Amino acid sequence: MPTLPPMLTTVPSLPTTRSFDPAVCGISEETWSPLLARLPEWRPKKGSLLVVAPHPDDETLGAGGLMQAASAAGYPVTLLSVTRGEAAYRMWPGLGALRDRELQASLKILGNGRIALHSLGLPDGRVSQHENALARAVRFHSPATTTLIAPYEFDGHPDHESVARVCLDVAAERGIAIGRYPIWAWHHTQPKLLQAGRWVRFHLSLRAQLQKAEAIRCFASQLHAPAREPILPAHVLPYFHRGHEVFLL
Ligand SMILES: [Zn+2]
Repeated sequence: MPTLPPMLTTVPSLPTTRSFDPAVCGISEETWSPLLARLPEWRPKKGSLLVVAPHPDDETLGAGGLMQAASAAGYPVTLLSVTRGEAAYRMWPGLGALRDRELQASLKILGNGRIALHSLGLPDGRVSQHENALARAVRFHSPATTTLIAPYEFDGHPDHESVARVCLDVAAERGIAIGRYPIWAWHHTQPKLLQAGRWVRFHLSLRAQLQKAEAIRCFASQLHAPAREPILPAHVLPYFHRGHEVFLL
């Protein structure tokens, strides 16, 4: 996720995006739960998945269960990891390399060595300056038959929204199926979010839930930052331990 370089982010042109502070409790899971229970069930078409994640851990939090299920079913799963998340905290030398290792450990749990990882290494917090390079990489890794899994375009973090924009453009250009996963939107976006667009839920087996939970624990730097507020405080974790994952189609 969550590399949240500035404490607050604002993108005024987007109606559902507003300033937020992840250290403060946001919309509770008790609020989301009954609303999400009404969403229709969804499964991606049979075939490969390309998951695009702005920072190491976004893929696991937003779509780790889907990645586990697709990989276990024998479908090719590729992760395009856009940045190394090196700017998540100030003054933490070697954080990018640490997050590389956390990501590799997570993917090993989710895919037992079968998930292909491509790291782009774009600068954390400045993806918007490199959207052409990102678009080339998304095109390269997405045959027309794949399902593209991308961040939500109004997620409230500039990198998440840049990656979403690029993925939506490539999907439209090539006629590729796309699903978008919220991360920060669960924290700060009002539930009326679900009134626009086609939101669906992907059911997770117990095995997928357990493996996703174990994979999330790999991101220790985001969960337990020494002597500072972690990027992923305990109050956001229930969004990512549901028995399903939610996508906007
Ligand atoms: Zn992120």
